[in-house]
Amino acid sequence: MQRVLGDQLPDFLAALAQPAPVSIRLNAGKITALPELERVPWAHTAYYLPQRPAFAADPWWHAGAYYAQEASSMFLEKVFRTATTGLESPLVLDLAAAPGGKSTLLALLLPPVGLLVANEVIRTRAHILAENVTKWGSGNVIVTNNDPVHFQALTELFDVILLDAPCSGEGLFRKDPAAVNEWSEANVQLCSERQQRILADVWDALKPGGILIYSTCTYEPSENEAQLQWLRQEYGAEGITIPLDPAWGVTELQSGVLTGYQFYPHRAKGEGLFMAALRKPGTATLVHYRKTRHKLLTPAAPRETELVKDWVQNTESWQWIRLGDKIQLLPSGTLETAELIAQRLRIVYMGVEVAELIRTQANPLPALALFKDVFRECFPDFGADPEMALRFLRKEDIVPLDSPNGWVLITSQELPLGWVKKINNRANNYWPKEWRLRMEWKEALQAYQHYHPL
Ligand code: SAM
Repeated sequence: MQRVLGDQLPDFLAALAQPAPVSIRLNAGKITALPELERVPWAHTAYYLPQRPAFAADPWWHAGAYYAQEASSMFLEKVFRTATTGLESPLVLDLAAAPGGKSTLLALLLPPVGLLVANEVIRTRAHILAENVTKWGSGNVIVTNNDPVHFQALTELFDVILLDAPCSGEGLFRKDPAAVNEWSEANVQLCSERQQRILADVWDALKPGGILIYSTCTYEPSENEAQLQWLRQEYGAEGITIPLDPAWGVTELQSGVLTGYQFYPHRAKGEGLFMAALRKPGTATLVHYRKTRHKLLTPAAPRETELVKDWVQNTESWQWIRLGDKIQLLPSGTLETAELIAQRLRIVYMGVEVAELIRTQANPLPALALFKDVFRECFPDFGADPEMALRFLRKEDIVPLDSPNGWVLITSQELPLGWVKKINNRANNYWPKEWRLRMEWKEALQAYQHYHPL
C-alpha cells in the first residue's frame, strides 16, 4: 500500500481505524417515498445510515423494502448504466452472485423485458441468493447453481456478464476482521489465478460486442489491473470509461489503454472496491443452439392461468408458465431463453413462484406475497403491528382475528410479508421455515424499537 499510495498512506491507515459506513439501497419496485437520509452520491435511492440497525429485527428488511449494501458496491449502477446504454432487452449474467447485493441492484436496472441470470457455485450460498432474490420480488431473475465452466454451453448468449470475483478481500479489512486473518501472499496468488481461470471459462458466453464488468473488493494489482491487462492481451478486450464526479473521491487506475476504478476508504465514503467495464471486440451474430424435443418449461394451460390471473397486475409484462406442480411467471418474451438456460444449467429459482396446484385448486406461494406486482385487492390483508410481524416471521401461529377464513396476506406498515390460512379461531403460518427469524421476538422488538432505518 505504501508503494501504491505514497504519501496518502497515513490517511488510508487512519480511515481503516474508523467504523465502516452503513448504507442501504431502497427497492423502488416496492416503495417510492424517499427518506431524509444522506444519499450515496453515485447511486439512486441509496442512503447512508447514522447507525447500524439489527437488520433481522426489521420486518421491512424481510419484506424486501431495502437491501443492506456496502456503498462502494453500488458504483455498479453507474458502470452498468454507462456501459449498456442502447441495449433494449439485455440478457445479463451475474456469475458470482451470492448473497445477492449486486443482483438485486441489476434486477432493478434492467428494462421490463430484460432477464438476469444470477449464479452461485456454492450450493448453500445459492439458496441464500434465491431467498434474497425472492424477497426482492422483481420477478426478472433466474437463480442457478453452477460452476463457471458450465457456461461454456451457452456460447455468445449474454449481452452483459458481471464477474464480482472471489478475491483476497483487502477492502473488507475494517468491516470484517476475519478478512485480515485470511489474508496471505499465497492466498493473493491463489485468488489471482482463480480469477483468470473464471474469466477464461466465461468469456465465450459473452456476445461479441457485449460488456464484461469485472470487480473485486481488493487493492491488489495482480487481482485487478493485471486481470484487465490479461483480457486485453488474450482477447483484445476494449476499455469503457465511466464519467466521474470528482466529489465522489473515486480513483482512476490506468492499466495500459484500459481504465479501472478504485475506491479507497480515505477518499470515497465506502469500503475498498475495484471495478472496470470492458467490451468484447466483434459484432454479435445469431448462434443456433440445438433444439431439444423435451421441453422443461411450458406455458401454463388456460384453465390453470384462470385460477391465478387476477392475483397479479401489469399482466402484459409477464407470461405464465408451468413448472412441475407450480404456476410461475417469467418476464414476457423470455420463455425461449429461459428454456435454453434450464436445459443447460442447474436452476434453483426462476421468475416468480405464484401458486402451487393441488388438484383443481391453486394455493398462493410465499414469493407471490413478496412480488412487486402482486394484486393485493384480490386477498384480504391484515396489517400486523411490529410485534405480530416479528412473530409471523418467527413462524408462530398468529391469528388475524378480524379476517375472514381462507388465505390472508400479512402486511407490515403496508408492505406484504406472507400468508396465513385462517380456519375459524386458528391460522396456519406459511412463512418458509428456511427463512424463519431465529431471534426471540421480544429481543427483536426491542432492537426494532431502538432503531430501524425507514
Ligand atoms: N456479488 C455478490 C454480492 O454482491 O452480493 C458477492 C460475491 S462474492 C465477492 C464472490 C462469490 O464467488 C462468493 O459468493 C463465492 O461463493 C463465489 N465463488 C467462490 N469460488 C468461486 C469459483 N471458483 N467460481 C465462481 N464463484 C466462486
